[in-house]
Amino acid sequence: MSCLFCSIVSGEIPSTKVYEDEWVYAFKDIDPQAPVHIVLIPKEHCANFMELKDMKILSYLGEAVQKICVQEGIDKNGFRVVTNCGEQGGQTVDHLHFHILGGRNLMWPPG
Ligand code: 5GP
Ligand code: ZN
Repeated sequence: MSCLFCSIVSGEIPSTKVYEDEWVYAFKDIDPQAPVHIVLIPKEHCANFMELKDMKILSYLGEAVQKICVQEGIDKNGFRVVTNCGEQGGQTVDHLHFHILGGRNLMWPPG
């Protein structure tokens, strides 16, 4: 089964890496919706939030969010972390990912 984000983790498809550790990989979104727009994924394939079985992965993602926000300079002014799940959630790539958005005032509620 081919998966776009698995291909990004393997390097088969190029990406602009922002952060990597044993468990997670983060890269710049190809279609940024804010001055900072990073996609953070677990290296191991998981289709979406509801498919996540090993909740340790959530803590690895959480630690990475903190590090990335400091690294990208959006920790002080604020940012948004969001995961789209399924059709009505607006998910377009079926590999669990968190969007990290910042660098401007973000609207709420989202559309
Ligand atoms: P979703 O819509 O599933 O929540 O988020 C998928 C995100 O992946 C979108 O924001 C989209 O712009 C981004 N994306 C899709 N294909 C690529 C790609 O090939 N490279 C990068 N860097 N981002 C991608
Ligand atoms: Zn995948």
